[in-house]
Amino acid sequence: MTDDCPPPPADSPAAGAAPQRLRVLIERQTLAREVRRLAQEITRDYQGRYPLIIGILKGSFVFLADLIRYLDFPVTIDLVRLSSYGSQTVSSGQVKMLHGLEVPVRDRHVLIVDDIVDTGLSLSHFADYVRQREPATLKICTLLDKPSRRQVDIHVDYVGIAIPDQFVVGYGIDCDEQYRNLCDVCVVEE
Ligand code: 5GP
Ligand code: MG
Repeated sequence: MTDDCPPPPADSPAAGAAPQRLRVLIERQTLAREVRRLAQEITRDYQGRYPLIIGILKGSFVFLADLIRYLDFPVTIDLVRLSSYGSQTVSSGQVKMLHGLEVPVRDRHVLIVDDIVDTGLSLSHFADYVRQREPATLKICTLLDKPSRRQVDIHVDYVGIAIPDQFVVGYGIDCDEQYRNLCDVCVVEE
């Protein structure tokens, strides 16, 4: 990520989409600083342990790509695709795995990386799924956290930034598949 990435557009740029206004909630410089801080903590905790990092698609892909490049020790990366949202902005509570694990987790030091913990339903569901496969250890890292929305008790080991109960996009996070390419995290104002 560089400082010459474009600013967020004033209006929805996609043809056929209803106009939406974007307001920057977390600037790119803040994201970069928090990603570095998380990477420092992870580096300190996982030195010499060769972790398996599991990114949850699609929302975590930009965060994951930035995070792992600050880790200067051997890691394995795997990706799963979970879906609970469809095109709506409220969690359905139904978690589907659209693409599963390829790397065995048994006896590995597993770190799950996600974009946002909201109700906590998808992560707690997926963490249970991983736990059943007997990793040596299991920890969770999220860029954003909406603690006021939690419905299940889930421990998140590495939290980037806590945000209020607002629907956000950008830095990999979408609204109906738009806005993943924004460099800042923005709130969508209808
Ligand atoms: P949870 O199961 O914790 O309610 O939510 C899981 C997923 O919903 C998050 O990983 C994220 O992909 C999506 N999500 C939660 N809040 C938001 C939001 O504000 N914006 C978008 N685009 N996705 C969100
Ligand atoms: Mg997600």
